[in-house]
Amino acid sequence: MKEKVSKLLSILLGFALIVGMSFQSTPVEAKTNTTKEYLIGFQTKVSQANVDQLQKLGGDVKHRYKYMNVVHVALPEQAVNALSKNPNIAFIEENVKYEAIGQTTPWGVPHIKADVVQSTGTTGTGVKVAILDTGIDASHEDLNVVGGASFVAAEPNALVDGHSHGTHVAGTVAAVNNSLGVVGVAPNVDLYAVKVLDSNGSGSLSDIAKGIEWSIDNNMDVINMSLGGSSGSTTLKQACDNAYNSGIVVIAAAGNSGSFFWLNTIGYPAKYSSVIAVGAVDSTNKRASFSSVGNELEVMAPGVSILSTVPGNRYDTFNGTSMASPHVAGAAALILAKHPTLTNVQVRDRLKNTATYLGDPFYYGNGVINVEKAIK
Ligand code: CA
Repeated sequence: MKEKVSKLLSILLGFALIVGMSFQSTPVEAKTNTTKEYLIGFQTKVSQANVDQLQKLGGDVKHRYKYMNVVHVALPEQAVNALSKNPNIAFIEENVKYEAIGQTTPWGVPHIKADVVQSTGTTGTGVKVAILDTGIDASHEDLNVVGGASFVAAEPNALVDGHSHGTHVAGTVAAVNNSLGVVGVAPNVDLYAVKVLDSNGSGSLSDIAKGIEWSIDNNMDVINMSLGGSSGSTTLKQACDNAYNSGIVVIAAAGNSGSFFWLNTIGYPAKYSSVIAVGAVDSTNKRASFSSVGNELEVMAPGVSILSTVPGNRYDTFNGTSMASPHVAGAAALILAKHPTLTNVQVRDRLKNTATYLGDPFYYGNGVINVEKAIK
């Protein structure tokens, strides 16, 4: 049996050599040829004779693969024609460039079932989302910012972000679904940068209220406020109520004050009834220790180890209810994209009523959102 195999092999090898000699005689006109790189597959194990033949055709053999009958060779284009007639050659393919497929899906996206919704073709198209924050780095490779306004006097450009908070929040809502970076919950929304916080991450009530009024005037569908303070404001409450009454889904981070006995630690504006207060869970649906608690807590969303965009075409992992809120903003945008006639109240009810119960509402609200259920 072994003998038969070796005989067969020697016949095949001989054949390869014969064929090799037959293409050896093919003339090569180097002057009209451009050299390209190819991967050439042989029917049988690549012999030194095959390599010699390729070299005689002007080929520069760069590599012989160990477990395949394939060589990587730089070869004049014209030599390929001759080689293609060689019956011992199984294939000749150009060594074309492949692009790195580097996009990562942050865990929060499948955790709220946004990946399932996206796979049905609902990606947020036509829905306007305002990010009231430190601005958004509009030059980021993985973000598509369509507009905005700044209400921070010293920082008039909303499309730059001297902090990184706003850019991170924006990426969780709407990082583009491409071959790089990350993907957001609703990657095709119309993303607006409304700068109400400065590069230190702080802002005044007056500027936040201006940003809310801008959102009303510019027909935003969703407002995300990953910001808050511990004391209320009549101006801020009226601004939020006006936005809500104008039909906008208004969402805010519950706060990062954690829990302290029976104390309510929800911040403002999350505490207002016109605003959806969002707390943070980790990937096991455990409440983050920093996540504020209270009766106004409405839903939970991913807010621990959230990978998203930061300025300078970079990506980073942040923690906070600031990271949870944009998951809900993206989810609201998906629902509105699928059902454009729903009111903001109906969108809110869907998010709330389809959330997965996680425990005591004082700590978990109605539970973690499930946009696959909410969008049905
Ligand atoms: Ca991306």
